[in-house]
Amino acid sequence: MSGFFSTSIEYMKGVGPQKADLLKKELRLFTYGDLIQHYPFRYEDRTRFYRISEVNEQMPYVQLKGRIRTMEMVGDGRKKRLVAYFNDGSGEIELVWFQAAAWTAKKLRPGTDYVAFGKPNKFGNKFSIAHPELEALTAFDGQGGGLQPVYHTTEKLKRKFLDSKAVSKLQEQLLALAASYINETLPQDITDRFKLISKKEALMHIHFPQSHEWLQKALFRLKFEELFYIQLRLLKMKLGRTEKFKGQVLDKPELLTRFYKKHLPFELTNAQKRVIKEIYADVRSGRQMNRLLQGDVGSGKTMVAFISMLLAIGSGAQAAMMAPTEILASQHYEGLSEYAKKLGLTIALLTGSTKKKERRQIHEALLSGHLNILTGTHALLEDPVQFNNLGLAVIDEQHRFGVAQRARLWHKNKQFPPHILVMTATPIPRTLAMTLYGDLDVSVIDELPAGRKPIQTVHRFDSNRLRVFGFMKEQIAAGRQVYVVYPLIEESEKLDLKDLTDGYESICRAFPQPEYQVSIVHGRQKPEEKEFEMQRFIKKQTHIMVATTVIEVGVNVPNASVMVIENAERFGLAQLHQLRGRVGRGADQSYCILMTDFKLSKEAKIRINTMVRTNNGFEIADMDLKLRGPGDITGTQQSGITDLLISDLSRDSKILQIARDAAQALLDKDPNLSDPENASIKRQIESQTKDILNWSRIS
Ligand code: ADP
Ligand code: MG
Repeated sequence: MSGFFSTSIEYMKGVGPQKADLLKKELRLFTYGDLIQHYPFRYEDRTRFYRISEVNEQMPYVQLKGRIRTMEMVGDGRKKRLVAYFNDGSGEIELVWFQAAAWTAKKLRPGTDYVAFGKPNKFGNKFSIAHPELEALTAFDGQGGGLQPVYHTTEKLKRKFLDSKAVSKLQEQLLALAASYINETLPQDITDRFKLISKKEALMHIHFPQSHEWLQKALFRLKFEELFYIQLRLLKMKLGRTEKFKGQVLDKPELLTRFYKKHLPFELTNAQKRVIKEIYADVRSGRQMNRLLQGDVGSGKTMVAFISMLLAIGSGAQAAMMAPTEILASQHYEGLSEYAKKLGLTIALLTGSTKKKERRQIHEALLSGHLNILTGTHALLEDPVQFNNLGLAVIDEQHRFGVAQRARLWHKNKQFPPHILVMTATPIPRTLAMTLYGDLDVSVIDELPAGRKPIQTVHRFDSNRLRVFGFMKEQIAAGRQVYVVYPLIEESEKLDLKDLTDGYESICRAFPQPEYQVSIVHGRQKPEEKEFEMQRFIKKQTHIMVATTVIEVGVNVPNASVMVIENAERFGLAQLHQLRGRVGRGADQSYCILMTDFKLSKEAKIRINTMVRTNNGFEIADMDLKLRGPGDITGTQQSGITDLLISDLSRDSKILQIARDAAQALLDKDPNLSDPENASIKRQIESQTKDILNWSRIS
């Protein structure tokens, strides 16, 4: 944007230093440029009048034309209100004022034609509008018609008279001033090809659309531009990185072949084979690998990780695998040890609770190169952990790790940054993955090992608990094990702990010793305690594992075939799916039972029904995105990317795809953007790269 748009907002007529200050604090609007990009978040449709008989609860706003038949004061004290009965011949609706009721009553003229505007509510079988906008029809010259922008403001701003209407006035003023300064920001062949309206038209119509059609055009143009530049930056970064970061060449597959021939415990799925090929191509290329491996729970990512490690070790390097919890890390350790032993490889586990002496031994073995594989938690990242030659770092369940932590892995090899394999079981919808990991290579395991029976999921009310217990007993009698999971939300940790211990006690009562053995695991336990209880369950010494969500990630006990989730309505979809993924790991039919109270919110119902309907992680992730929006799913770690001004990743996947293709095509033709035609694009990118550079280099 030109100098005009960096003008401070306080120089606008009607703003001044005080209001400018507030706009900065409340909405982070500093300049003309910020203001013009403060787009309406919705529009009130004043293009048509509705008949009162048409009004229904789903309508966000209605515009009506009619007369006040009569009015009255109703109630007293604090509940005192003015009710006007508004009639248009087709029906009647109540207009209600709680505030300034007496003052309003004096102004209203029954028998006059009015235009009323507001949100209809239903009480019993009557509709009403609280605090409608009301204007005499004669004064209503059609000026106010059309699509009216509604802007986000805050209570503080409203108190200083900066409500949506006032912001709209500012926008009107600004657009008049700005008209001659708005430059086109996309090259002509792109605007031509995608039939995009100009930047200037788009800004005009996004604030004051002349019609629905113009609004659609403005939205498309601005979303395209936003997503195009994000994709272009990400793709360009990826291009730059592949050139810049050399990687260690891991091209000796002998160890891997030996493992395949002699020790592979099962046939790999085709998806696993494909992904391993992709990884092999990366690590032997001489460039650093940065790959995201997505695979639903139980799809066999660990084996892929191990096989990739063999490529590193076989080529004279070391491998590391980092997991977000101690339980998970030690489970990886146990699992990988079994294979490593067969090949005569050395492996160690490093976590926060590793004893000092052992820790020192690990440090030494790492540095000398005697240790082939190190598994562990973020303890891996600590400075004293120095490798002889780290060739591959695997990060499991990556969404649990922060960016800064991942960055430190890069520095564990001074000569070449290690190849990075990030594994996640949280299926990320394609649209989101494209944006968040647009600069990473993505592999997907889209197939479960053969012989798995789909998990059966049912919803049961708390009142049916006895029957659920009965079912658990049947399963235990058949030799299976059962998880019972309670939610744990930090704010109410104490309360939840009580839920958990109450639940534990009632289960111990219903499943008495010595016939039944019950384990319990939660976040308040010491690591040794947790580990002890976990091990009892893994070794089949206990039948039931009562736990909080600490078992959510990665835990693998194939004989456990029933997952009971208490207060299921309190879990998000992604979490429910993760939890369910703890069963269905062996050959037996598995079950997931979602327990809830009778009373459920609409969203909770959707979540539960989605879980009952499908086992497909990607379908669940899409629904999750729809319900929660992208910000929530990614957390704060990737901020900068999901702070979109206008696009909505859960809705704009088509535009995203188009924009990404356009960006890719442009880079194919002109990788360095050195063509004079693309000079403006290049400038645009360079001015905005710093935010995302940080995380995307190290993901
Ligand atoms: P996740 O992708 O959730 O990390 P795991 O790697 O823990 O899944 O694998 C789940 C289970 O499936 C493990 O018990 C593992 O040994 C088994 N498994 C992995 N790949 C295969 C395969 N190709 N055939 C049969 N079982 C497999
Ligand atoms: Mg796993």
